[in-house]
Amino acid sequence: MSKKVVLSGARPTGALHIGNYLGAIKNWVKLQDEYDCFFFIADWHALTTDYEDTGSYKENISEVVMDLYAAGLEPDKCNIFLQSSLKEHAELHLLFSMITPLSWLERCPTYKDQLNQMDEKNIRTYGFLGYPCLQSADILIYKADYVPVGEDQLPHVEMTREIARRFNFLFGKVFPEPEPLLTEAKVLPGLDGRKMSKSYNNTIALKDRGDVLRKKVMSMITDPARIRKDDPGHPDVCAVFAYHKFFNKEEKEQIESDCKAGLIGCVGCKKNLYEKLAEVLKPIHERRDEIEANPDMVREIIARGNASAQVVISKTMADVRKAMKIDWE
Ligand code: SF4
Repeated sequence: MSKKVVLSGARPTGALHIGNYLGAIKNWVKLQDEYDCFFFIADWHALTTDYEDTGSYKENISEVVMDLYAAGLEPDKCNIFLQSSLKEHAELHLLFSMITPLSWLERCPTYKDQLNQMDEKNIRTYGFLGYPCLQSADILIYKADYVPVGEDQLPHVEMTREIARRFNFLFGKVFPEPEPLLTEAKVLPGLDGRKMSKSYNNTIALKDRGDVLRKKVMSMITDPARIRKDDPGHPDVCAVFAYHKFFNKEEKEQIESDCKAGLIGCVGCKKNLYEKLAEVLKPIHERRDEIEANPDMVREIIARGNASAQVVISKTMADVRKAMKIDWE
């Protein structure tokens, strides 16, 4: 029996951080063993919010591919491809934009949220409004069975299902309705305790190591009420402890009780975390060294993924054009 198809994407906005790794990529590494996975570099999606600044566009694509490889994705097990290399994604997006009611896009909760959050960017554009339509094309063009998402992305999967239903109703059944594969939310705070985000400049990149990593860990915000080493601490408000919970499972309970009893200092606690992180990230850094030492690998990985993706989407688009009776020739 053929494997079920999983589709997911990462925006190339620079090096991935460990929040991206825990929140999504670590899960992709598991999925590649179980499903027929299509993981794409969503470079057109990045343009919906960052179209004014494309100076690092190519470099960012390479960074993400190197990070995905470093994190454990195997080009022998999954397909890693570049969205903009496969023009059929744009074609299906265009066709979906003909049938998608404007009200569906305008009521999308993340649309309004992002308009408010990204006040400094001019994203009141046609492309940004239609972004869920492009996302639906990305998913449905592979006739994906599952889309791994966090809870906040569920409305987008629902919109994809609605667009599939509308297309099938108008032109006959072409698309299955994909199911969300809910990923347990693992949210790591940034160095300053706020949400980890490149725009806050508070991230730990997956590739950070040595002095860079150590300095970042040593700069992390701890319990602000703790002045002296023997003051009782509150690990629940401390960013360092949030990391111990994820990366230092064997010691987290001891650290929690020692902190509350004022038996350990924050400097030592951070040094301990740095060592733990360095150990956990070591295999990732070794794979990163491997791909950095082979400059052709990034292009080879993308070319291979593009070729596999092309086979699937050519067939889907032939079905779509036929169903819509626009298969001239
Ligand atoms: S001892 Fe560790 S857990 Fe407690 S406040 Fe300091 S850094 Fe945070």
